[in-house]
Order: sequence, then structure tokens, then C-alpha cells
Amino acid sequence: MEPQLPKTRLICTLTATTIDALSEQMSQAASTGCDTVECRLDYLGPPPGPGDVAAIVGACDLDVIATCRPVREGGKFTGPEADRLAILQAASDAGAGYIDVEADVPPGERPGGAVISSRHDFEACPENLDELAAGLDASDAAVNKIAFTASSPSDALRAFDVIRSSSKPTIALAMGPAGLPSRILAGKAGAFGTFASLAGGLESAPGQPTVAALRDLYRWDHIDADTEIYGVIGCPVAHSMSPAIHNAAFGATGINGVYVPLLIEPGGENFNDFLDAVLARPWLDWRGLSVTIPHKHNALDFVGAENCDPLAVRIGAVNTITISPDGAVRGDNTDYAAAIDALCDAMGITREDLAGREVAVLGAGGAARAIVAALAHYKARTTIYNRTVARGEALAADFGAQAAGLDAAEAMQAEIVINCTPIGMHPLIDASPLDRIPESVKVVFDTIYNPIRTKLLAAAEAAGCLTVTGLDMFVNQAAAQFEMWTGKQAPRDVMRQVVMQHLDS
Ligand code: NAP
Repeated sequence: MEPQLPKTRLICTLTATTIDALSEQMSQAASTGCDTVECRLDYLGPPPGPGDVAAIVGACDLDVIATCRPVREGGKFTGPEADRLAILQAASDAGAGYIDVEADVPPGERPGGAVISSRHDFEACPENLDELAAGLDASDAAVNKIAFTASSPSDALRAFDVIRSSSKPTIALAMGPAGLPSRILAGKAGAFGTFASLAGGLESAPGQPTVAALRDLYRWDHIDADTEIYGVIGCPVAHSMSPAIHNAAFGATGINGVYVPLLIEPGGENFNDFLDAVLARPWLDWRGLSVTIPHKHNALDFVGAENCDPLAVRIGAVNTITISPDGAVRGDNTDYAAAIDALCDAMGITREDLAGREVAVLGAGGAARAIVAALAHYKARTTIYNRTVARGEALAADFGAQAAGLDAAEAMQAEIVINCTPIGMHPLIDASPLDRIPESVKVVFDTIYNPIRTKLLAAAEAAGCLTVTGLDMFVNQAAAQFEMWTGKQAPRDVMRQVVMQHLDS
């Protein structure tokens, strides 16, 4: 067990532009469950006088960090430097717990009080990050703060290194969407605090989540030095439902884990850099990764075929990486099993019972490839119907299936149809890949999960077919990941509920 450090502060940053609005924000912040507020006094226009500052600070029940950021450090204050420092001194005199003073203010001019010495880089992660961090650490400030712009989640891990190597309480943040893990996991790294906004649109820096997102979605109150970390790698990744699903599952099962989004730009080097950075830091207790577009093949390359499920290797895609405490990695593809089990469970048959059954797969992309590979493995007789016939033929050749154009699908003789095209997906919900359900068809599985009941499934129901939804597949694959990583039974009902709530919202 890692030694437990003082609880990392959840700091709600307040960016109101008038004193009245700031008071209102303060009372709202008190009800969010944050423990500290940062009053961004530079947002106020006109700038507050000493009496205003004293009233603002005095009225707050929570601990206050007073900040009056100048334009040169990414803030809004445009007045004389002496006025700015006087505002901070007034805040300190009025009882603010901390005042944030930029590191470039000469020591002789610094206001007195408990100082957070801060540096910001809105362009990149500075090449001399370690040197800058050491400089902050050597000052006589009470707290170090360094915020820089992330180009990859690896930069978030560099922020953790800064926190862990400092001799004083430290805030180190990687800004921007790729840096989000540095904010969510500040408690894991033992940071002095992390900043969060009161509501969407009120952020004081790029990539800042809301207090509610940190607490309700990212398990802020449960994260400590022993928390195990998981995440989803993708580009884009902000839309992913996986953090909500897995974090709810950790909550429901009492597992000390957290799951974060990881925005990694396309390219094997970017993928490898991040994985190397994770494996170089065993203290992170990083135990699992979901992998989505465009990195599933990169994941296979990184893990190596010898460490992967052979069917994942045949599919050419790893969507799940499991990391052991000793740093060993394993790759799996939960998509194929999720799809096949959704189908077999609905039909009340085993995977082996698929042998010899006629199956029509519509589409020849990534989802189709995983499903066709599994159907071949379990000896079903598969025909692929795809818009681009050559692509369907190439997939069929890889797995001993047949291929035809999508327009030939209605003449099929299959018992089971599996739609792996996006036709009928939100927002074009009035479309269907089949104009009518062919006579031979008894089971229709649509891998689309938004909407859950597609036009194709509605037609299949009307024709008396058994139907299988993409939601079943989606929940199955997330549950399979959870079970691989934790060795515990996944709370499927909770996971399904989370997906349905997201689809409703
Ligand atoms: P993909 O790799 O982009 O492949 C899309 C396939 O659909 C291709 O075969 C493409 O044909 C075909 N297609 C696309 N638009 C079409 C159109 N307007 N008319 C005819 N054919 C069209 O995508 P994917 O990753 O395989 O995903 C496909 C679908 O599977 C997604 O939309 C999603 O709904 C579903 N899915 C569900 C889950 C789940 O967990 N439930 C997981 C993954 C995917 P061409 O080859 O001619 O371009």
C-alpha cells in the first residue's frame, strides 16, 4: 500500500465578472461538494478595491485561493502590476487561505501570506519542465503550481512526476483534452489540489472538468494512492460512454478503481509512447485499457501476437489490454465474443451450436470483421453483403466466407442476419439496410445501439423474427473487459442502465 497523503483538494474555480455574480457562484460552489474555491479576481470588471476583496473573501465559508492572473500568464487583469499585487495582498489580509502569485514576480514584490507560486504554458509541455519544477520547489512559497498544455496523455504522467518529486505540496496540471487524466487522477498522485469549474462554460482553463463530473462520473471522492487506473484510448474519445459505464461498475462493486478517457492522436508511435510511459510508472497501478478507433491495430502491435488471444490476432484488432502488477501485458478482443454471446444467448444456443448455420453479415468494416472471424471460428456458413463488393470479398477470403453486393442481400437464404453497417443509426433512424425481411430469416441482430430498436429490428419483430440489439453486444463487451481486469462478475444491470440513460439524454 502506498502511504496516504493529505486529501487532495477539489478546488472549484469561480470566474464571475461581477461581485454579485461571484457571491452567487460562491454559494453555489458550497453545494457542489468541493472543499476550496479559487476566486479569479482578474475576471471582475472593473477590478475590485481592497474593501470589495475583503467582503468577497470574508463571505466565503470555504477555504479561498485568491488569484488575479495577468494577461502575460493567460489571465484577464490588464491594470498596473502594483494594483494587481495590492488586490492579492488585500485577499491575504482578509483571510484567504492562499494567494496565487506568478513565479516571475520578484520575491521582494510578492504579497505576504501563504503563496502558491505558479507557472503556466498555454502552448506545450515545456522541454525544461523538470528544471522549472525544481525552481518552483526551491522558492519559499507554500505550494508549487505548474500548468502546461498536453499534446498527449503522456504529458499528464509527466505532471504526476512533478508532483511526486516535489518536496512541497504541488499542483501540476496538463491542460487541454489530452491532459484530462492529470486533473481526474490528481488525488492518485498526491497533488495539493485540482481545479474544476462550477458548470460547463465557466472553465478558467482548457480541459477543466466540472466539479460534478469529477465527483459523479470520475469517482473523485474514492480516489487515493491505492486506486487502480483504467481508461479508454481513442481519437476522438470525448463521446465515449465507457468512462460512465466502467466507473459506475467500480462504484457498484466497491472496487477501488477509476476509468479515464485518453485522447491519443492517430499513429503507432503515439500509442507506443503512452503505453511505454504507463509501464515505466508501476506506482500508477494501471491495470487495463479499452482501445477504440484508430488504435486497435496499434494495440495488437504493441502487445505482440504472442501475448494476445489468437482470434484477436486473426481479426487484426485488440480492443482490450490487461496489465499485470508485474508489468506484463495481454491483448484481447471482447467485440467478437460480445457479439457472438449476444446472439447465442438470445437464441438459447451455445457458440458451438452456430456450426453449419447460414448467417448473412451486412457490412465489411471493423465490426463485421470481428463477427465474421468468430462465425468462421465456430463454423457457421457466412455470406458477407457489402456496398463495396471488393472489400467484402477480401474479408470473405480471410475467413472462408462468401461475398456479394449489399443490393443482393434480399435474395439471401440465411437463418440469421447481422447488420454491421451504420444504416439506421441515429440520426438517420428511418433508414434500414433491408427493405424487407427475407423469408428464410428467423433471427435479426442489429449491432447499432443508438437507437436500441432500429427500423430493421422493428421490421424483424413484425415479421415474427427473434431480435438481438446492439445494446446487448455493447454491454457484453464492457462486461467482458471488467471481468478480465478485475476477476469479478460485472454488474451488467448497472452497466446497461448507464448506457440507456446516456441514450435517453
Ligand atoms: P466501419 O469499419 O466504418 O465499416 C462500416 C461498414 O458499413 C462498411 O462495410 C461500409 O461499407 C458500410 N456502410 C457504411 N455506410 C454505408 C451506407 N450508407 N450504405 C451501405 N453501406 C454502408 O464501421 P464499424 O466499426 O464496422 O462499425 C459499423 C457499425 O457497427 C457501427 O455503425 C455501429 O453501429 C456498429 N457497432 C456496434 C458495436 C456494439 O458494441 N454494439 C460495436 C462496434 C460497432 P463500405 O465498405 O462500402 O464502405
